[in-house]
Amino acid sequence: PIGISASKAIGTLPKPGTAKPDATAHKFNRGMVLVFAGPMRGAAALSAAAALRAGAGYVVLEGSERAPFSAIIAESDERFGERLNDPRVGAVVIGPGFPAGDELLFDVEAALDSNKALVLDAAAIDAALPRLSETPRNAILTPHEGEFARAFPQLYGSKIDRAKAAAARTQAVVIYKGADTIIAAPDGRVAAAWPGSPWLATAGTGDVLAGACGAMLARGGDAFDAAVAAVGWHIAQAARIGPGLVADDLVRE
Ligand code: AMP
Ligand code: MG
Repeated sequence: PIGISASKAIGTLPKPGTAKPDATAHKFNRGMVLVFAGPMRGAAALSAAAALRAGAGYVVLEGSERAPFSAIIAESDERFGERLNDPRVGAVVIGPGFPAGDELLFDVEAALDSNKALVLDAAAIDAALPRLSETPRNAILTPHEGEFARAFPQLYGSKIDRAKAAAARTQAVVIYKGADTIIAAPDGRVAAAWPGSPWLATAGTGDVLAGACGAMLARGGDAFDAAVAAVGWHIAQAARIGPGLVADDLVRE
């Protein structure tokens, strides 16, 4: 029942460190990512750093006074609306670092109105849900088990069935995370990634994945392909680092 197995979808990615930018690349066409960060500073920093490490040429971290890397532009969140109008921004990551139930509605509305490619994580998934099925959009949702159950309590069946139903319902690509990660697109494509390193079961790794999704999405192109590439990058990094990894290692190593 699985359209693309992990070995096919993810095994064909270049080894980390071997995917070279185009000879004619410049920082903006490698992908510009806007990360809208919550009050949990560590999560925000991990997402922004991951976007940069996963290949984005330019990353702006909104809602923050301090950047995790010197190359990242950190700004307080007053500029978020303005930044959404920057035509160079290829993808917006919103949600990491916002606690469950946090009021994100206004900013999520602005992000949806911008028609940018979006990565919606954690609390941003709930905030966006009522509007997601309106139009198909280049968006990736990254719920873990608890977030998925909160957003889609009415779905039943296998994890693959539920991921596919959530993608159809939201008209967005769903990365249903966990020990086995399922990626589903609204057009029925589905990929299963396994086995990720169980060392990924540690705080902050989901924030890293959201940032990586932003980097892949900002290059342009299809949200499903971007999601598969980001999950592949995440798992490959974890395998390379090995035992004892913490989320910071995924972006620093
Ligand atoms: P989050 O729960 O948002 O921090 O995301 C956790 C990340 O770690 C996701 O990418 C999960 O797929 C991954 N992950 C969590 N637990 C495991 C596990 N036991 N084996 C492999 N990957 C895991
Ligand atoms: Mg998370």
